[in-house]
Formats: sequence, C-alpha cells, structure tokens
Amino acid sequence: MENCIFCKIIKGEIPSTKVYEDDEILAFKDIQPAAPIHILVIPKKHIPSLVQLEKEDEILVGKIYTVINKIAEEQGVLNKGYRVIVNCGKDGGQEVGHLHFHLLAGKSLGEKIV
Ligand code: AMP
Ligand code: ZN
Repeated sequence: MENCIFCKIIKGEIPSTKVYEDDEILAFKDIQPAAPIHILVIPKKHIPSLVQLEKEDEILVGKIYTVINKIAEEQGVLNKGYRVIVNCGKDGGQEVGHLHFHLLAGKSLGEKIV
C-alpha cells in the first residue's frame, strides 16, 4: 500500500531493526520504545486495522500470536511475562494504519487499564 510507513518497512524502503521475518509476518523494534522490549509484529498483508480483518485472515492472526511467543522466548521473557496491545481506531489510539501488535516486556508493566 502506497504511503503506508509499515508497508515501506516491509519493502525495505524505510530502515528497521528486524527481529523476525517469514513469508507473511515481520517483527521489528519500535522506534519509540515504551518498555525495555518493545517490538511490533505485523502481517505483510496491508490490513488497516482490526476492523478490516476478514475471515481469510483468521489463520494469519493465529500465526502472529505464535510468532509473538517465539520472539518472547528469544528475548528471554516467555516465562517472566509480557503484554500484547493492539490499538484500534481513533479512540483506541491507533496512529499507524497498518495492523500491528505491540509486544511489551522487560519490566513490570504495572499501569493496567484492564
Ligand atoms: P500505534 O499508536 O498503535 O499506531 O503504534 C504505532 C507505533 O509505531 C508507535 O509505537 C511508534 O513508535 C511506532 N513507529 C512509528 N514509526 C516507526 C518506524 N519507522 N519504525 C519503528 N516503529 C515505528
Ligand atoms: Zn501497510
């Protein structure tokens, strides 16, 4: 998708620090980390937000959670704990219009909303 910053990262047009990549999924470090470990896990398919998820994306989203666990294990936090956040839409605080899963870890993430 043109003008999508994350599609540009997928295409290598914008640099990123990649931590995982396969045919369908990319993970890279967030440029403004909110925790010692802050990684964004994204589908390579341009899906603007959770709202646009389609039936055919159900397996892809499941794979994303498996990849999150793999990364958490590699980062040494699988058993310490971590948080996964998906901001969706204006009230959800979503700023980048390409579906992404924030993986946060490396400290006690105390400030719970729910
Ligand atoms: P959200 O507010 O949920 O849309 O999250 C967007 C996230 O993308 C923020 O945490 C930003 O710090 C992050 N971000 C924006 N541009 C980049 C970039 N070029 N490389 C890595 N992370 C980015
Ligand atoms: Zn995109």
